[in-house]
Amino acid sequence: MKDFKLKFQYSIGKLDFKEILLEVAVKLIDKAVKTIPEDVEKAIVEAYETETSEIGVKMLEAIVENIRIAKEEGRLICQDTGIPVFIVEEGLETPWRADYHRIFTEAVSKATEAIPLRPNVVHPLTRMNTRDNTGFRIPVLHVAKTKGSDIKVSFMPKGAGSENVSSFHMLTPVKTVETIKNIILTRVVEAGGMPCPPTILGVGLGGTSEEAMLMAKKALLRPIGDENKDSEIARFESELLEAVNKTGIGPMGLGGRWTCLDVKIEYAYCHTASLPLAINFQCWAARRASAVIKPNGSYEIS
Ligand code: SF4
Repeated sequence: MKDFKLKFQYSIGKLDFKEILLEVAVKLIDKAVKTIPEDVEKAIVEAYETETSEIGVKMLEAIVENIRIAKEEGRLICQDTGIPVFIVEEGLETPWRADYHRIFTEAVSKATEAIPLRPNVVHPLTRMNTRDNTGFRIPVLHVAKTKGSDIKVSFMPKGAGSENVSSFHMLTPVKTVETIKNIILTRVVEAGGMPCPPTILGVGLGGTSEEAMLMAKKALLRPIGDENKDSEIARFESELLEAVNKTGIGPMGLGGRWTCLDVKIEYAYCHTASLPLAINFQCWAARRASAVIKPNGSYEIS
């Protein structure tokens, strides 16, 4: 019988993976709540420079100033520091093993006190607040296996304004591309200023109900300007972006050219008898931060 060696490890030599992961998670939380990713900041500045409505320009000016102050003074981008969501892509060849949920829970609790973060997490029925942004199944955690030996950890705090207008639609498979577009546009119009536009729209198309919702959320991790590798889907992304920006909802819902900075679609093949569609809004405060952890324990945050 083949002699299998234990491949995964909690520590190698003096390296303790729990400590590394905890440090990474706290840094990701700190970075995400105080800075806007460069691609998002660039898109907001471009929107400010090209906005045509007077009130829209004022709103974008305030947003640009908000981003500057947060960066320079190390303050929060927004008072709603969101609900913590971690997305892990674990390389099949990584030597590390970890109880991600336990470590991220500790990181969120520490960060809530140290940064500090607004305590947002409550029991869904009693509304009892845990005061440290953790709770049963919180932080939200999605782990997927991927190729290679690195571990990529992404943190996305999700504010309620944008999360609350997310939606799921189980369509009949006879629906056309035009119908899908109209459903998304209707949802954008219904949402109005609630998700603090200009937004980024994450769309999950196909798969199953739960997979579509997850795809819509994960789509928000893609940088602005990044197109889907599937040319049909990429074309639909830019068509949707143009259509959403024609609604005139504008910055903070007060009217203008810029309602949306980008549309990201993730898709999966689906049952011939169904067509799941999920929409996840991300507000202008599109906070996200990622780290890639190498097999030697070194890491890079972006
Ligand atoms: S939707 Fe975003 S920008 Fe608006 S209050 Fe919530 S977290 Fe802040």
